[in-house]
Amino acid sequence: MAKLNILKEGDETLRKICRPVDKITLRTKILLDDMVETMRKADGVGLAAPQVGILRRIVVIEVEEGQVLELINPVIVEASGEVSGVEGCLSVPGRQGIVKRPSYVRVQALDRHGVMQTYEGTDLLARCFCHELDHLDGHLYIDKADKMIYPDADGEYYEDEE
Ligand code: ZN
Repeated sequence: MAKLNILKEGDETLRKICRPVDKITLRTKILLDDMVETMRKADGVGLAAPQVGILRRIVVIEVEEGQVLELINPVIVEASGEVSGVEGCLSVPGRQGIVKRPSYVRVQALDRHGVMQTYEGTDLLARCFCHELDHLDGHLYIDKADKMIYPDADGEYYEDEE
């Protein structure tokens, strides 16, 4: 497995719309493995392929340690509720934001074997599904954050004044 370079905000690749995966190949599986390793090394809970420069609809998520979700061509098929919460992104280091997201989502995606799976997420997992799937359409959370927050020297976050 190899750790991949994570693109940062300002890179045009992060603003592109990703194409679906038409065929799951060995390369797809290697990419999934590398994305999981990269996410873990960066202490993230989710990573989308465009963040490592690959414009394909692929996402990995690990909100609960040891429970890795690998999503190929994921689609949100149901969403309900609304909750504000703090969000960060490996492509936007040093900042966080308050973002409204659904409190529940149901997602369908292919797994690495090409089998369609359905996932349900509430709270942090629902937020993570929405955040990562947004990446596949070139959206970053900073576009929809109600407020951005920045850490001070003690690592505590404070609110933007504007
Ligand atoms: Zn992100």
